[in-house]
Amino acid sequence: KPIITIKEIGRKYVIGTEVIHALKSVSLDIRKGEFVALMGPSGSGKSTLMNILGCLDTPTSGSYVLNGTDVSHMSQDALAEVRNKEIGFVFQTFNLLPRSTSLDNVALPLIYAGYSRKVREQKAKAALESVNLGNRMDHKPNELSGGQRQRVAVARALINDPSIILADEPTGNLDTKTSIEIMGLLEEIHSRGNTIILVTHEEDIAQHAHRIVRMRDGLIENDYANTDVKSVS
Ligand code: ADP
Ligand code: ADP
Repeated sequence: KPIITIKEIGRKYVIGTEVIHALKSVSLDIRKGEFVALMGPSGSGKSTLMNILGCLDTPTSGSYVLNGTDVSHMSQDALAEVRNKEIGFVFQTFNLLPRSTSLDNVALPLIYAGYSRKVREQKAKAALESVNLGNRMDHKPNELSGGQRQRVAVARALINDPSIILADEPTGNLDTKTSIEIMGLLEEIHSRGNTIILVTHEEDIAQHAHRIVRMRDGLIENDYANTDVKSVS
C-alpha cells in the first residue's frame, strides 16, 4: 500500500478578486522506497505540491493520506507534528544554522523528538558518518564546501528516520561535479530503502530518479517509470 495517496487535490489562492488555481486536480500514489523526480516549467505547481506533500500547506480540495494518516484538513499544529515525524527536507540553499556545528545542525530535529543530549549526539554522529562527514562534525557551515554543506543537510533530513525525503532543487547551488556527488549520495540513501521526491529543472539530474512526474498548469502532464536510470557509481 502506498506511503502517499493523493486524490484529486486542488489548491487555489485567492488574492482580492483574483483566484489562482495553482493545482487543479492532481492524483498521485507513491510507494515506499520510490525515487521520484518532479519536473515542470516555472509556475506549473511544483512548489505548491511540494508544500502540501511536506505538510507545510493543505489542499483546498481533495485528499492527502500520508503513511496512513489523512492530513488534508489538519490544523497547523497537528500538521507540524506530522511534519517533524514523517518528513525530511533538503533545500537548494541548505538552510543550516550558520553559528552551529555540523553535529548541532544534524541533532536539532531530535530536540523536538525529546531525546537526551547524549542520544542526540550519538545519533547525529552516526548520521554524519553515514554521509562521510565523520571528520567534519565540529565544523560550522562557512568552514565547509557547498557539497559538504548539502551532505550535512541530508544527514539532518535523515535523522528522524522520516517516511519521505523531499529534496527541492538540492543541486541548484552546486557545480556539476558536486551535483553528481550529491546525486550519488541520494542514490545510496534510496538504496537503503528511503523514499525520495526530488524537484529539479535539470533533465540530467532527473534521470537519476526511477520515476518522472511532469507538471504543467496545475496538472500532472506525464508520469512514467524511468527505464534508463542514470547512476553515479
Ligand atoms: P512552480 O513551483 O512550478 O514554479 P508554484 O507552485 O510556485 O509553481 O506556482 C503555481 C502557481 O501558483 C503560479 O501561478 C504561482 O504564481 C501561484 N502561487 C504559488 N504560490 C502562491 C501564493 N502563495 N499566493 C498566490 N499565488 C501563488
Ligand atoms: P520557485 O520558483 O523556486 O519554486 P517561487 O519564486 O515560485 O519559487 O516561489 C517562492 C515562494 O513564493 C513560494 O513559497 C511560493 O508559494 C510563493 N509564491 C509564488 N508565487 C506567488 C505569488 N504569485 N504570490 C504570492 N506568493 C507566491
